[in-house]
Parts: sequence; structure tokens; C-alpha cells
Amino acid sequence: MPLATLVTDFVALLFPQVCLACQEPLARGEDHICTACRAQLPYTDYHRLPPTENPLARRFWGKLPVQHAFSYLRFQKHGRVQHLLHQLKYRGQQEVGQVLGRWFGQELVEAGFAPDFDLILPVPLHARRLAQRGYNQSDSFAEGLAASLHCPWQPDGLRRITRTESQTRKSRLQRWQNVAEVFEVARPELIAGRRVVVVDDVLTTGATLEACATVLLAAGAATVSVATIATADR
Ligand SMILES: [Zn+2]
Repeated sequence: MPLATLVTDFVALLFPQVCLACQEPLARGEDHICTACRAQLPYTDYHRLPPTENPLARRFWGKLPVQHAFSYLRFQKHGRVQHLLHQLKYRGQQEVGQVLGRWFGQELVEAGFAPDFDLILPVPLHARRLAQRGYNQSDSFAEGLAASLHCPWQPDGLRRITRTESQTRKSRLQRWQNVAEVFEVARPELIAGRRVVVVDDVLTTGATLEACATVLLAAGAATVSVATIATADR
């Protein structure tokens, strides 16, 4: 056994790396998420469906033209996906986003979607939230996707321009209008004519991605697609 492998194994024995989904120790060669979890994650496989049968794409019908709407995983309360997203958002584990982004990007490459994208843009956090957390949880997912798709990504292509007010007592329409006001394209000349993918961690109502897609189309994006780590069933 090579010395480097022995050292790696010894360090792993002292400081075991655990799976970010199930907390079990990782075996050598496993990449932040163990093989068992990888096999059992609830994949949506929406990118394998004909577009007319993709339930995520259907959510945007009649609202705005979204070229592709993909989500890697199905969000389930108390499940592995919720745990992964918690690690990503609140525990500083940006590797979750990178690993899932790389894996999902590879699937999109294999499914033939890579030529459809010129630029990946994460949904931005508000500056105040970014200062609290120290990072945008969507950036690492964008970074992972970009690596597999061989496509550039920009952390600041979209900006939030006002703080979203408390949304708890608002109707869905009011919420949409509220969110719709808070994004702008940082540099329209970089968007015009490009095929853009907007990425976020979880899709719930879809209002945030709709708002981003709207400003991107207004800025002259050739097409807009959306991709998220997970989607919540409605
Ligand atoms: Zn695991």
C-alpha cells in the first residue's frame, strides 16, 4: 500500500469524514455523500421526461417561456434531502452544492442538454442575508453544474434590489409581485442573446425563479431555463 494512502487512511481514522446525508463514516473514494445515499436519493428524473410531461415545466406554462425546468431531487420533510439542504444552508457545507451540482450536471450532459446553456446564474441572496451567512447556498450548486457542463457561471449576474417584506400574510399574487420587484440584471450586455440557466436550492412556489427569468428575458436573454437542487411537492 502506498505511503500516501496509509497516511490518508490514518487521518481518516482520527478525523472520520461523515456522509452529509446520513452521518455514517465515508469509505475511501466516496465524495461527501456515501454510495448508499447516492443510490437511494429521491431523484426526480424530470430531465428524462418529454417536456410536456415535466411537472416542473408545467408550473411555468402560461406565465413565461422557460426553455427547460429541472430539479435534481424531491424534497421530503425529515428525509435525506432536507438534511443535505440543512447542511448546505446552515452548516457551511458548501460541498453539498458542489457535489450535487457536479453529479446533476453530468446527467444533463449525458442527456444532451449541455449545448443549450451559455451562462449559469444563481439566484442571489439579499446582501444582509449574505453578510449573516457568509455565502450564497446557490453559488456552490452553480459552480458544480458549471464544472460538469463546461459552462461559465457568475455569482453576481443577478442582484436583489430591495429587501423582501414579511410575506406571511400575503396572498400568492401579492407574494409574486413582492418578489418580482427585487431582482435586476447587473450587466444587461452580458445577458443579451445568451441562453441562461437560473439556479436555486429549492423550488417551492416558483415565484423567485419566475421573477429572475422575467428580468433576464427583459434584458434580452435568448432563452431562460431553471434548475434547482430540490423541488417541494405541492
Ligand atoms: Zn449516506
